[in-house]
Amino acid sequence: MKILQSGPGRHIIVQNKKCLNFCSNNYLGFAQDAVLKKAAKQAITQYGVGTTSVRALIGTNTLHQTLEKTLSRFKNTQDAVVVTSGYLANMVVLQTFFTPNDIVISDELNHASIIDAIRLAQIKHKYIFKHAIMKSLKKALQQARALQKTQPDAKVLIVTDGVFSMDGDIAPLPDIVQLAHSYKAQIMVDDAHGEGVLGKHGRGIVDHFSLHGAIDFEVGTLSKAFGVNGGFVAGSKHIADTIRTKARQFLFSNALAIPDTAALIKAIEILMIDDTRINTLWSNSHYLQDQLKTAGFDIGHTHTPITPIMLYDEEVTKKAELVLFRNNIVVSSIIFPMVPHGAARLRVMPSSLHTKRDIDLFVTIIKKIFRPSSHRPKQQSQRV
Ligand SMILES: *Cc1c(COP(=O)(O)O)cnc(C)c1O
Repeated sequence: MKILQSGPGRHIIVQNKKCLNFCSNNYLGFAQDAVLKKAAKQAITQYGVGTTSVRALIGTNTLHQTLEKTLSRFKNTQDAVVVTSGYLANMVVLQTFFTPNDIVISDELNHASIIDAIRLAQIKHKYIFKHAIMKSLKKALQQARALQKTQPDAKVLIVTDGVFSMDGDIAPLPDIVQLAHSYKAQIMVDDAHGEGVLGKHGRGIVDHFSLHGAIDFEVGTLSKAFGVNGGFVAGSKHIADTIRTKARQFLFSNALAIPDTAALIKAIEILMIDDTRINTLWSNSHYLQDQLKTAGFDIGHTHTPITPIMLYDEEVTKKAELVLFRNNIVVSSIIFPMVPHGAARLRVMPSSLHTKRDIDLFVTIIKKIFRPSSHRPKQQSQRV
């Protein structure tokens, strides 16, 4: 674990050393944004630091209400409910709306918080489909339909990440919607890495594919591109009202912190009127990815700023992280159990804060460390 002696900006200080930061999820630089900081300070002055109650009792501040209204406008849904993390937001959906007798169909590469949420809801009938393979999803839906013959009341939920955090690829949501429609299944999308990144103004994957209204549960995090902390579920008014009256995470866990809530309102307001951060994020991402590809690196099949550099071998990958750090660059190495054995990689996270020269510097150094072709495995590892 690296200990930061600074905020997660373009540069970070680690072990008293100023380094270029390519590992935070601070896609748009909001974590240190002056407007957000000012809003948080003002909120502290006015309301203090803590809420000291769950939302359902006396923990709901007027700021929470404003954030939820702003968020539902941003997401183009009827309503939205915020909780203290994205992890918790996944728990909210599975535990509140599904019983052990319902059927959940989940992409094999879904985030750990989705897997845990399915476990928490004690779902008895869980089908895992091959990552983003619609034939595999269809097979699971057919199995679900067969099961419904004996349990006609069982609901069917398809759940997927929007953007897959280790590879940066995007769920084939239009195809999922079509299949869900023919099999009368509901859909939940966890768009943690798509919020603030994909779609118009960063509205996320649903906007990216123009699928507003076609997704039952839109889960997101406020801790990545939004730069603060928290999670949310956006959807119909019925869904939001049910969460506010029934979700255990809403009834039995403290409200989102006051300064966080105030800062988040500003983040979303800025996103809705100003695309400069998002445009810079994407141009930096393309610049980085083009250069890495030209240099011969395997960056997988990313369609987002998340940029894996496949090194396959775990020791090689950990060593690469160290050598980069010696060169004052911080990048995360991703190894088992985050990815399967033999699929180790560096995960480079460009942001709107970086300059083209930062990226040039990174690429120059990584090229010096590796001659890309010498790190191809003899046989591509299989996903587990
Ligand atoms: C990061 C992430 C989460 C967790 O969000 P937190 O707000 O950090 O709890 C959930 N789902 C996915 C897909 C993520 O990438």
